[in-house]
Amino acid sequence: MIIIMEPSATKEQIDTVVKALRNKGFRIVLNQGDVMTVIAAIGDKRLVEPHSFQSYEGVRSVKLIQEPYKLASRECKQEDTVIEFSNGVRIGGLEKPVLIVGPCCVENDIDGLLRVADAAKEMGCHFLRGGAFKPRTSPYDFQGLEEKALEYLAIAREKTGLLIVTELMDTLDLDLVCQYADVIQIGARNMQNFKLLKAVGKCNKPVILKRGPAATIREFLLAAEHIMYHGNDKVILCERGIKGVDNTATRNTLDITAIPVIKKYSHLPVIVDPSHGTGRRYLIEPMAKAGLIVGAHGIMMEVHHDPENASSDGAQSLPIPMFKEVAKHLNKLIGRIDYDNKHSKEGVSIV
Ligand code: PEP
Ligand code: MN
Repeated sequence: MIIIMEPSATKEQIDTVVKALRNKGFRIVLNQGDVMTVIAAIGDKRLVEPHSFQSYEGVRSVKLIQEPYKLASRECKQEDTVIEFSNGVRIGGLEKPVLIVGPCCVENDIDGLLRVADAAKEMGCHFLRGGAFKPRTSPYDFQGLEEKALEYLAIAREKTGLLIVTELMDTLDLDLVCQYADVIQIGARNMQNFKLLKAVGKCNKPVILKRGPAATIREFLLAAEHIMYHGNDKVILCERGIKGVDNTATRNTLDITAIPVIKKYSHLPVIVDPSHGTGRRYLIEPMAKAGLIVGAHGIMMEVHHDPENASSDGAQSLPIPMFKEVAKHLNKLIGRIDYDNKHSKEGVSIV
């Protein structure tokens, strides 16, 4: 339920409503805008008669949240969520889109990883990605270096200042991954691993939640809701392609439509991964550009120092020289986005 207070409502009036809701067991999210305060109350609506709040002093209107996801919904929070990182980088809202780049998995070659990290830094990226625990379709494929990979990522961070994004696959590894990662990634295959969502919901790290290959947007936002329900509101959604009708021309079908749709229904930041979304190196640049044009808050791309010999996803990884070209073009496009006139539903304006 959403309770919109009058612009003239006093602090005491707001506190009275909040207290009454808390007494009924509701979780409160308070959005204090420039003009008015909006109280979002999450809980069992059978416990109260929502319209009884209409008679409280200072209340302008009461309405029920229609969507099945609540905390993730724009009904609950009108303004875009912006997530701020230790180095001052911000993701979401009208902030400049960020580039998150790195190999699919961290391999037993720290020099290769450092070459990618140096190139990422040179091209103005802020995040280095790399898998330590890898969800592989085949048990015979490389499964990741686990803690050793995390150590390598930490060395790369130390050297470049880039923030580290890495995937968590199992609640048992949560503490370990939290020790190293700046952002925890929940992979597409685990989008509905509810225990995992609960575990990251209880920790304080930003989370990149990838869309399941067959998930609807409603299911995707409900997965984000699980994380937020347990207390972590730093969720970044990542569109990474869904199962389409043609898995020969591309690995997945990148659902570009998802970006403005998500932005209509949710205040959370949303990024695009054209590497997994297409499975083809040559499609990374055009689809990254498409993502930026429709208003994505960031792009995640796989980059490898020697993609032909990568342990995973070489075909969708950019070699370093090609990455630099792509990053140059994306940075140019980002530089032309008119942030003042950026419209959340209609994509960006270009100047
Ligand atoms: C990844 O980012 O390395 C990955 C495995 O992605 P996804 O979960 O989208 O398949
Ligand atoms: Mn990959």
